[in-house]
Amino acid sequence: YGSLAGLVQRNPRFSKLNDDDVRYFEGILGNKNVVQDEDKLVTSNTDWMHKYKGSSKLLLQPRTTDQVAQILKYCNSRCLAVVPQGGNTGLVGGSVPVFDEVIISLSSMNKIISFDKVSGILVCEAGCILENIMSFLDNEGFIMPLDLGAKGSCQIGGNVSTNAGGLRLVRYGSLHGNVLGVEAVLANGTVLDMLKTLRKDNTGYDLKHLFIGSEGSLGIVTKVSILTPPKLSSVNVAFLACKDYNSCQKLLQEAKRKLGEILSAFEFLDVQSMNLVLNHLEGARNPIPTSLHNFYVLIETTGSDESSDKQKLEAFLLGSMENELISDGVLAQDINQASSFWLLREGIPEALMKAGAVYKYDLSVPLEHMYNLVEEMRSRLGNTANVIGYGHLGDGNLHLNVSTPHYDDKILSQIEPFVYEWTSKHRGSISAEHGIGLMKANEIYYSKSLETVQVMASIKNLMDPNHILNPYKVLPHSLTS
Ligand code: FAD
Repeated sequence: YGSLAGLVQRNPRFSKLNDDDVRYFEGILGNKNVVQDEDKLVTSNTDWMHKYKGSSKLLLQPRTTDQVAQILKYCNSRCLAVVPQGGNTGLVGGSVPVFDEVIISLSSMNKIISFDKVSGILVCEAGCILENIMSFLDNEGFIMPLDLGAKGSCQIGGNVSTNAGGLRLVRYGSLHGNVLGVEAVLANGTVLDMLKTLRKDNTGYDLKHLFIGSEGSLGIVTKVSILTPPKLSSVNVAFLACKDYNSCQKLLQEAKRKLGEILSAFEFLDVQSMNLVLNHLEGARNPIPTSLHNFYVLIETTGSDESSDKQKLEAFLLGSMENELISDGVLAQDINQASSFWLLREGIPEALMKAGAVYKYDLSVPLEHMYNLVEEMRSRLGNTANVIGYGHLGDGNLHLNVSTPHYDDKILSQIEPFVYEWTSKHRGSISAEHGIGLMKANEIYYSKSLETVQVMASIKNLMDPNHILNPYKVLPHSLTS
């Protein structure tokens, strides 16, 4: 394990679970939803990357908000630490216990509560799996404003708690704009009903935003209301090759100008990412096999008029070929081909997992400097590691990943703190969309000022004075122990 848990001490203020606690929870939830089975616990104690591992002895599966409230009220009074868990696809060690925290899984709270076809506003429970919501909306003629590679497992409550960005942010914006309301339970069991379905509501502090991106450190999100856009009839996907990073950047500028309102995704991967996917992901095939190019860009357009959208896209592609911004490219002819293009981009995290150990960095960096970091990292590490760069170029979001056969402290010390210092020097963010979790709790000062972190800690103290919610995560350990 490449876990950082060794650097953190268990907070001795937290109680240890006893038989009375288990009986109390069985009284609320029934025996079946109080899980002590070792095999089931192994899965919930281990994160998606198999990098972080806790040793919780108890997993609770509430089915109602009231049950979540009763659990938290009890845990708070007993000073029992808890970790809220959605689909457990988080990539920063936030969704698994560090030590023996009780795991509260939202998986059984998976009902869609209402959908308004006129406004496109969906209200659902936090444990709904993103892909299930997408299928539901598809039948209604709508789509989710967010999409990500983990859609088959991640839950909307987890998406909201991490403020997940994903593949459509360039078009629809972040969850801070699309989430209209949340219901959340505080550490002491108080239920905050902020489950509004209004686009405009300026009645004082908008507290729902505290739960968007706070990674379960301020409360448990139990319900969400979200604005969904209509499903438009014409979707096109192009997979393009560029000779250098500068061309990718210029292509983005052109795409924003020439495709305008129909641009719905602009993703990039370097040739090292392409090779990794081709080597490790079954079914992956390079649609531009003539020769390997240095960079690849996936562009998606979504609009309401098939012929004019296609015309617009073709004119853009022709112009970009003439200007030599793209060296080659393919336009998907059907939905299967479009999916095969997406597989190359969305399959990178899985291919990295199959390749061995991986050090993941999810950074916002001003576009012009972004790829310099990948190149500098490559020359720092030489042939000890495979350094790849890909991500949501349209949002200025780089996923820098270092792939090695095994975790190795020597390699880690070559990467960190260099990667954080570099990002901070360029006024970037050390977490664009994955969050802070356990991985970056002590690194937050690279992106936030001392004063800002102090206010964050005050909010934490106010809302969770015993610090039982997702301890050791998000805030520096010195402020929460
Ligand atoms: P979990 O992993 O279970 O939890 C994540 C955090 O939220 C934890 O801190 C947990 O305690 C907290 N949490 C979960 N549910 C709740 C709740 N109901 N109330 C309070 N706290 C809660 N992220 C992106 O932003 N963009 C991407 O494009 C993207 N792509 C990904 C692709 C893959 C293949 C994978 C594995 C991950 C990807 N991610 C991406 C990471 C992303 O953070 C998660 O996939 C997703 O948002 C987390 O949802 P989850 O339900 O799995 O949450």
